Amino acid sequence: MSHDASNEKLSTRAVTAGRPPRAGDSELNAPISLNSTFTAGGPIGYGRYGNDTWSATETAISALEGGRSLIFSSGMAAITAAFSILPWGARIVASNEGYSGVMTLLNQYSQSGRLKVSLVDISNTDEVLAQLPGADLLWLESPTNPCLDVAELPQLISAAKSAGILVMVDNTFATALTQRPLEMGADVVMNSVTKFLSGHSDVLMGSLSTNNAELFTSLESARKFNGSIAGPFEAWLALRGIRTFALRFAQSCKSAQVLAQRLSDHPKVSRVRYPGLVTDSQHERAKKFMATFGAVLSFEVIGSGADADRVCDSSKIITHATSLGGVESLWERRRRWPIESPSVPETLIRLSVGCEDVEDLWEDIQRALATI
Ligand code: PLP
Repeated sequence: MSHDASNEKLSTRAVTAGRPPRAGDSELNAPISLNSTFTAGGPIGYGRYGNDTWSATETAISALEGGRSLIFSSGMAAITAAFSILPWGARIVASNEGYSGVMTLLNQYSQSGRLKVSLVDISNTDEVLAQLPGADLLWLESPTNPCLDVAELPQLISAAKSAGILVMVDNTFATALTQRPLEMGADVVMNSVTKFLSGHSDVLMGSLSTNNAELFTSLESARKFNGSIAGPFEAWLALRGIRTFALRFAQSCKSAQVLAQRLSDHPKVSRVRYPGLVTDSQHERAKKFMATFGAVLSFEVIGSGADADRVCDSSKIITHATSLGGVESLWERRRRWPIESPSVPETLIRLSVGCEDVEDLWEDIQRALATI
């Protein structure tokens, strides 16, 4: 009897999806398919066109996000593939303070004339709506990296779709356990699989998921001919990470809420950004459609950029490193990167909350803050 997984919880699907069919002695886990080519006559043909390990990982991501999925060599490779299907000179509306890699890419596209770029405060719904007429793509990253701004996703997606505008959502910070943009009507959902889905800071990978067959074909063609493919071993590692994703994410979100609250009361901290705080400017909006408030928070220390650097250097449990979404907590001062937006405060520290005990993390944070 075939098994209908459509009523299963996402946490169950994360464990069950993408397994080989069951039979006597069948393998429980998808094998790592190390093949650059295949015997002629089959549906794949060549190692840049398809791979059984990719397919298993893609099945698991689709079980979480919906639609059909494609994995790429990194989140940026997935984003580049997504932008590459736009015609020359197309206009894109995007956040003026999103992930710095995307901001850099959009800036390059704008300067070369490849795309016209309208940057907006993504949390200001009226400002976004005003920019929609004549746009070709609405790119929504929500919550944003690193300022945790929340876009009014349901309203913006529906307004853009009514106007015939393509909508893509970077769901990296929120993940499918928080919001499912395809269900809200978005055309494409992107994930930096590098982060929460893989979860162990050992893989770079990106994904795109869509319900639209034509878009799927275009995106798959972009991957084939740009060559931005994931390695089979990385695909296998990501799938292994996805098995525990729901557990890890639940723990991290719970700890993030506690740490955000405590940091708000700390005398060396001037501001905490976390949509789970009732005092956060994004909270009322976030609670309408987000099932969790995520596991990343940002806070500003009272002092200079050098003080914030000292805090990041002083922790013993939290690692001073970029990236997010792993079992190990990481923090950094975002403005240490020259490409970070100048509107991000100099003293803003982004903290990705991992799976360590929350009391140990809090002790570590207090100890580090005591150095300034
Ligand atoms: N989108 C967001 C929100 C990110 O934070 C990142 C990386 O930090 C990316 C996309 C790019 O992903 P990757 O580093 O896997 O290329």
